[in-house]
Amino acid sequence: MGIDLDPGVSRRHFLVSTSIATSVALLAPRHLFGQDDGLVQTARRTAADATIKVQKLRGNISVLLGAGGNIAVLHGREGKLLIDAGFAGARPKITSALASISPDPVKHLINTHWHFDHTDGNEWLHSAGAAILAHANTRKHLSTTTRVEGWNFTFPPWPTGAIPSEVFEGERSLELNGTGIALKHYAPAHTDGDISVHFKGADVLHVGDTFWNGYYPFIDYSTGGSIDGMIRATEANLATLTDTTIVVPGHGAVGDRSQLAFYRDLLAGAREKIAALKKQGKSLDEIVAAKPTAATDEKWGGGFMSPKQFIGLVFQGV
Ligand SMILES: [Zn+2]
Repeated sequence: MGIDLDPGVSRRHFLVSTSIATSVALLAPRHLFGQDDGLVQTARRTAADATIKVQKLRGNISVLLGAGGNIAVLHGREGKLLIDAGFAGARPKITSALASISPDPVKHLINTHWHFDHTDGNEWLHSAGAAILAHANTRKHLSTTTRVEGWNFTFPPWPTGAIPSEVFEGERSLELNGTGIALKHYAPAHTDGDISVHFKGADVLHVGDTFWNGYYPFIDYSTGGSIDGMIRATEANLATLTDTTIVVPGHGAVGDRSQLAFYRDLLAGAREKIAALKKQGKSLDEIVAAKPTAATDEKWGGGFMSPKQFIGLVFQGV
């Protein structure tokens, strides 16, 4: 499943990684054959079976892995803040995972972008007391019928309670539970509504789906994403963080600067090779056959996106 079985890896880390790989493999578009038996339904249907792991990061910040996109949690007397909502079907397991962190109720939810594996739980979290904040484009997509070609799926508008009640455009600062939090919109990258969330004191940076740690990323061209935007967002992340910043990706294990730098090189290298082949007049099938991403396919192509799917996404944008 693209998991690095480094003998030095702890058993706990291994268990976390395998549970993520198992749950997220269901998101791979290769499993998509139509609106009725596709990725979206399968992911939602199987969410209740997900194994959710709680990983303490730094200070009063933790992350829940395995319920869809990674969910960062800030707890304290002013109530919990969640960064992303995961799948609705994982509600019972998310509820008990949150209770294991602290008894504070959930009061706040921020969406890193509009995709269903990050917003499916918006409605129940809102009904449980969370006010939802996101970028204006996230609210736009959740409020209207939105087609994602890469998933061959058309999403109807989200229920009223799931729509963010507050939005921003460029940047936003918050202070909660004694922690300064900086929100920043990326130029279009994975979608047109991606934001980063930086917990300043603890130096934990949630970068949403601009970073997939250990998996080729999905890029949603239907709502403004592109390979060049993904590379620019990764450059922006690298410019922001330090050697001690904890980086929470949208999918995959919690990472750091060196892993993000590797990912930047991977994206830029794939873009360069695939663009050169396309310029020579090669078809997508010919480029796939030339294996331009061979060096990373075994490790990065086993979970979310196959090498062929990733090459197709890059090909589309160069
Ligand atoms: Zn996404």
